[in-house]
Amino acid sequence: MSRTIKLDQPVLAEHLRRADHLRRTFRRNGVAVLNLVSSPGAGKTTLLERTIEALSPRLAIAVIAGDVQTQIDADRARAAGARWAGPVETNGTCHLEPWMIEDRIADLDLAAIDLLFIENVGNLVCPAVYDLGEHHKAVMLSTVEGDDKPLKYPVMFRNASTMIINKTDLLGLTDFQIDRAEENARRINPDLVIFKLSCKTGEGLTAWFDRLLEMANSLLPHKTQGNPE
Ligand code: MG
Ligand code: ZN
Repeated sequence: MSRTIKLDQPVLAEHLRRADHLRRTFRRNGVAVLNLVSSPGAGKTTLLERTIEALSPRLAIAVIAGDVQTQIDADRARAAGARWAGPVETNGTCHLEPWMIEDRIADLDLAAIDLLFIENVGNLVCPAVYDLGEHHKAVMLSTVEGDDKPLKYPVMFRNASTMIINKTDLLGLTDFQIDRAEENARRINPDLVIFKLSCKTGEGLTAWFDRLLEMANSLLPHKTQGNPE
């Protein structure tokens, strides 16, 4: 039997049950969770590095780095100062599924973490339909891609709450029109919160950091009081 992403009802129900359980676990431990998705090469890992470097003094950040193969991205997150970073090597699967997250966090002390990034496998198709128990799905696009991507992968942009346009330092060097990208994205999902930034120059990163701090702080009441630091 071939595997497709058209999940049948019982399988879908099982994934959702697991995702909801994860979400409750994260919330109970006061962990804000962000599922970061993009095509390969948009800059997910670099954004995580910049974010960890900037926010680590204030937040305990953990990263689950999904890739078909290698632990390179988890190593990068750890080197940037993540409190904890663990790889998920899918060995061919082009997305992460809730059970992989369950497996990965089994040895993680969630109560000691404020913010967890799940860096998904680079792919705009199936990661759109797998809920991993995250609070937000953030879809990332870069200025070396087509500005029509939101129209081509509508499910992803519809299911995301946040869109990040990276590599703004390269605007003008490619045919990517940032206004057109935003317009296309809003046609699919008018509620998208959009960040335009460059991980290379640092432009626009502050707004992104502020948003993450706000997200993490909104879950603080769920965390046991008296967190040292
Ligand atoms: Mg990566
Ligand atoms: Zn897939």
